[in-house]
Amino acid sequence: METISSFFGFGNTTSFADMCHLIGAFGNCCVIETDEGLVVFDIAQEQFGQLVFDQLRSLTDRPIKYLIYSHGHFDHCFGFSPFVEELKKNGWEMPQIIAQENILNRWEKYRMLEGYHRWLNRQQFASVIGNDSSFRLSARETLDPTIIVHEEYSFELGGWTFELFHDKGETDDALWLWFPGKKVIFSGDLIISGFPNIGNPYKVQRYPKHWALAMERMLAKNAEYLAPGHGPLIESKDKVNDVLSITAEAMHFVHDEVVKRMNQGKWFEQIYNEMLEIYPDRFKDHEYLKPIYGCYPFAIHAVYRLYHGWYDKGNPTDLFPAESDIIAREFLKISSAEAYFEHAKKLFSQGNLQLALHIIDPVIKGLDLKRPEILLEAIKLKISILEKQVKDESSFITSNILTNEVIRLNARISDIKENLDS
Ligand SMILES: [Zn+2]
Repeated sequence: METISSFFGFGNTTSFADMCHLIGAFGNCCVIETDEGLVVFDIAQEQFGQLVFDQLRSLTDRPIKYLIYSHGHFDHCFGFSPFVEELKKNGWEMPQIIAQENILNRWEKYRMLEGYHRWLNRQQFASVIGNDSSFRLSARETLDPTIIVHEEYSFELGGWTFELFHDKGETDDALWLWFPGKKVIFSGDLIISGFPNIGNPYKVQRYPKHWALAMERMLAKNAEYLAPGHGPLIESKDKVNDVLSITAEAMHFVHDEVVKRMNQGKWFEQIYNEMLEIYPDRFKDHEYLKPIYGCYPFAIHAVYRLYHGWYDKGNPTDLFPAESDIIAREFLKISSAEAYFEHAKKLFSQGNLQLALHIIDPVIKGLDLKRPEILLEAIKLKISILEKQVKDESSFITSNILTNEVIRLNARISDIKENLDS
């Protein structure tokens, strides 16, 4: 997974257009130097605050006059501590802090759901965070905006004009910055140098159609540089146009194709599988749509969920479902654990990984410790299937979900063995 390191982009700084810098961190921090001070667009995750501060101060001594949040995610807004300390030390005025109005609701929600977010972000970022308990993933302390933007806002500093626009995409509180003097777009996570993170399985609703429209609004600017929320600077009019148009096209495609099928009366399962078959090669092979973080299958969920309730297969069996462990135990009364195991093994050897998972699950969920040998074999088989899936997977989020389950299953094997020994 070579490309994911550029997504987290630690410590590389790119200077461009005479007065701009992109400091690579998780996420990118962008800086524009004017004679009257700095405009800073995003300030990274708390753990990268010092790195961003050191990089920025190796470039310029000027004070920050404006700090803009592209959106309220923790990797863009929480690295402020070293900057606040510096302000106090130098007796500088606090900068104006600009954000879209929905950021405050977002942070309120994070505070309400702090335990849940800590848990789910540890799942999503498991391979980066590991066991580091100091990794802050919530919004306990925030540096709140002093200027709230609804749709658009512009300001001047050092004789330059800066224009902010609100669009929805990954979040409902996104702002992007247009710097007309040097033809630069600072996009935040509307561009992340890979397939948009639009259908994250852990997170709330995202906005595919609005995302496409945001790309089109950016395209109309004819920018020469695009500084993304993650990944390296995109330079030249052609490349900027390319990343914006292909992203717009992909978002329109997934949105319109799902909507078309919903209007034909199809349920999610059918839509999903049909959509997997029709994903165009021009998206699949495009350098700016690589599934390094988000991915196409998740985007299909995003569109369906935007317009549909949770009853998604049209099967009344799912309306008031029994627990899956109890269902599994019933299956094992009909057919033996060995029969399921052998069949799953066969599917695995044929490369049918997804079906193999469905078939091995009743054994793992339905058996108790009275049949330890077959239970252990089944868990090991599931681990092998998941490990094979991880090997073939490029999406960071998917890989973490699969790997987390491998870790959990290995722990279960140890527990079962300990139980047998005692
Ligand atoms: Zn981000």
